[in-house]
Amino acid sequence: MTDQVNDTAVSRQGKSYVVKTYGCQMNEHDSERISGLLEADGMNRVDDVADADVIVLNTCCIRENADNKLYGALGHLKVLKEQNPDVQIAVGGCLAQKDRDTIMDRAGHVDVVFGTHNVHRALELLDHAQEHGPIVEILEATARDDQEAFPSALPARREVDHAGWLTIQIGCDNTCAFCIVPAVRGPEISRPFGELVDEARDLAADGVSEITLLGQNVNSYGRDLALARRALDISEGGADEGDAFWCGDRWATDRRARPLFGDLLRNIGAIEGVHRIRYTSPHPKDMRTETFEAMAETPEVCEHLHFPLQAGSDRVLKLMHRGYTSERFLEKLAEARATIPGLAVSTDIIVGFPGETDDDFERTLEVAAAAEFASAFTFVFSPRPGTEAAELLDHQPELAVPHEVAVERYERLRTVIERSSLKANQSRVGVVEEVTVEGPSKKDPSVLTGRTRRNTLIHFPSPSPIKPGTYATVRVLDAKTNHLLGELVEITIPARHRTRIPVVSG
Ligand code: SF4
Repeated sequence: MTDQVNDTAVSRQGKSYVVKTYGCQMNEHDSERISGLLEADGMNRVDDVADADVIVLNTCCIRENADNKLYGALGHLKVLKEQNPDVQIAVGGCLAQKDRDTIMDRAGHVDVVFGTHNVHRALELLDHAQEHGPIVEILEATARDDQEAFPSALPARREVDHAGWLTIQIGCDNTCAFCIVPAVRGPEISRPFGELVDEARDLAADGVSEITLLGQNVNSYGRDLALARRALDISEGGADEGDAFWCGDRWATDRRARPLFGDLLRNIGAIEGVHRIRYTSPHPKDMRTETFEAMAETPEVCEHLHFPLQAGSDRVLKLMHRGYTSERFLEKLAEARATIPGLAVSTDIIVGFPGETDDDFERTLEVAAAAEFASAFTFVFSPRPGTEAAELLDHQPELAVPHEVAVERYERLRTVIERSSLKANQSRVGVVEEVTVEGPSKKDPSVLTGRTRRNTLIHFPSPSPIKPGTYATVRVLDAKTNHLLGELVEITIPARHRTRIPVVSG
């Protein structure tokens, strides 16, 4: 860990910034918060790095070739920095957390390197670099009382007015062999329940009608709070309203040891103005009946579940340390579908994990077909440095699945997924779906694009423009593999967001 620097104060009023994001929704949300901090300091966003006084690259080490992409981008920025030495370049995110000093060694024109636990200090670090020169500050996972470290506890510049993210938890306590997240994001830390409900209320007051709860393993939310609660020796049932661990009447009277993810769904669903709730990502091994019940009983929670399978072979699942068998996965899926009418299920699947045999892959095809996913993110395995799977390949390169074999398996899996996607979409033909309008279609601006509660894109013509964030009903007329086509029935809820940010929460 690098020591924290002392704060300085540099005026950036009227200057410009750009934040480039590489990675997942957690990263995109971090970028919104970085943008919010810079705008709260008087800066204006621009699209082109050539016009920016401050350039922030928010990196990801989960995606393939993340480091090549970063150093490629930094190579281009070197020319810019030579032309204008006053431009400040900052690199943050999980690749920065993992590579630490390497970034400065490879790209000496970078001014600031910060990690995943000090997003909130981006401004101070830019100030420090301006006064004293380049700085690397990487912190380890912070204690729960350092709530500033949570990206949601910062001002935000939301990309979309009607939809907002709410980080409920950071880090992960699991040990999936292919994943770098626990190494770079640290152990699971849940935000206090009451604070999350307050922040959701603030988002709703600001016109956000759709909230997506974010975390690496959202359905284990609160596990660490229970441990902390016990450590503080709070007597059973004695938590008061306003206490950091308060989670509403239900928990207090139930005398449960901890708030559950389902409690969060119910409490956020009860907030006036919240019309849709989504969440990502849950872990199948931690999925409880209670969560399915909360989804079914909370009308605001959308009928969509992202349920990452990763592999269908029990042998491979064990090598991956996923903590479930394919049979258990399918049982939970059946329970989810039985509890939540109209549920659409998406997934993640990796093909070509080290040691995956033809038989293992056939099992993945069987399980994927049985699961009837509405959509899937499918990947050919590629090792992420620092993970157990990458080390395994270093020691036993013979376990690597030849690239052409993995690609062929990938194509076969895509065929199975596309079949079930089309079937899922065809089952909606004739149904009147509730849709959030997202704006003109990218391919054909003469039609509008919206998203159903099941998270399916739908395109439909409209006689007049409709503001993004409007809710409408649309009759499904036709189904394609990846989208629906429909006709507008009526507008049900006009867009109601009032302001642009920065929004200072809670
Ligand atoms: S649950 Fe597994 S895949 Fe998900 S973040 Fe944690 S270690 Fe990574």
